[in-house]
Amino acid sequence: MISLCKECSSRFEKSFSIGECSICGGKVAKMGELAERGALLVGGDWESFSVSTTIPRGLLAAEEKAFDYSPGESIKTFANRYFSEKVAAISGRKYEPSGGDGRIMFDFRSFTARREPEPLFFFGRYRKLKEGLSQTKWDCRKCFGRGCERCNGEGKMYRSVEEIIGEPFVKKTGGTFCMHASGREDVDVVNTAGRPFVLEISNPDARKVDLGEVGKEIASGGEVEVSNLRRVGRGDVELVADSHFPKTYRAWIEVEGGAGRKDLEMIRGFSEMLKQQTPNRVMHRRADKVRERHAKVVNAGMDGDLVMADILADAGTYIKELIGGDDGRTEPSFSSLLGKGCICKRLAVVKIEDYFLDLVLE
Ligand SMILES: [Zn+2]
Ligand SMILES: [Zn+2]
Repeated sequence: MISLCKECSSRFEKSFSIGECSICGGKVAKMGELAERGALLVGGDWESFSVSTTIPRGLLAAEEKAFDYSPGESIKTFANRYFSEKVAAISGRKYEPSGGDGRIMFDFRSFTARREPEPLFFFGRYRKLKEGLSQTKWDCRKCFGRGCERCNGEGKMYRSVEEIIGEPFVKKTGGTFCMHASGREDVDVVNTAGRPFVLEISNPDARKVDLGEVGKEIASGGEVEVSNLRRVGRGDVELVADSHFPKTYRAWIEVEGGAGRKDLEMIRGFSEMLKQQTPNRVMHRRADKVRERHAKVVNAGMDGDLVMADILADAGTYIKELIGGDDGRTEPSFSSLLGKGCICKRLAVVKIEDYFLDLVLE
């Protein structure tokens, strides 16, 4: 007959002889201390928490032997209930089984507690006001971020929108950031439309953020501005990152030999279903296939020697190729239409049709 400690024995319907505990070795009697240590790990601005308990395999095997003799409550169920009640009582925060603001993780083997804050998610729309910014962190390919001659010791080729938005946030929250955006613009393309994104902050120390203050700091460099900032849930990352929206672009176009009135008229009337083969410039990272996209010029005029055209296009349309033709890989194109070379000299995203996000975000 096995013997158990008083605490373990009380979880079983039949009684055991009380003595040295073959299940916990006396640890259950000391759980109060461990709960107190765990409660100290609850973050200052957490409103809720969850718990988990790791039970060593040897202990579970010993418990199985006791179950052979009597039905009872498992130590894991008992521990989770005990820790959640204790931590709630000591910290004054709400126990939230499905997650809450973070988790207190108890380990029965080492008899220690640690914490894991839930990530924070912030939705917003960013405008990129200057060329020469990449969307995400872009490490130098020669030194992989260590810093070398090619990158001027910076470790990266471009400063990124992700860093300009993420750094002011982690100054307030601690932790690390990662941006999930709906599509992207090239380094040399500005975007005044406001592109939807969710910034994820892993392992934050603080959870309360003055979004107005962060927004001002993001805008202080004059490169990126954000609007509509708000806290959202984990599920919204996918919603934003996987949604594709039609967009209006403004393109400045150089027409071979100068644009005449007839050229301008033809561009103005452009509304076509395109066949776009993967552009030469992105072939190294995308599969080669043909996509169908609709593009329509909604407005066009002269801006000095260049044609300035506003183009409403389906998500995923390659605009530079729509203009230049990409050696016939995009058909039709402005070049094929006019029968002369057209080059996109400058490009900006001026509108993104993403209103539905405001209706469905958590
Ligand atoms: Zn015991
Ligand atoms: Zn480098």
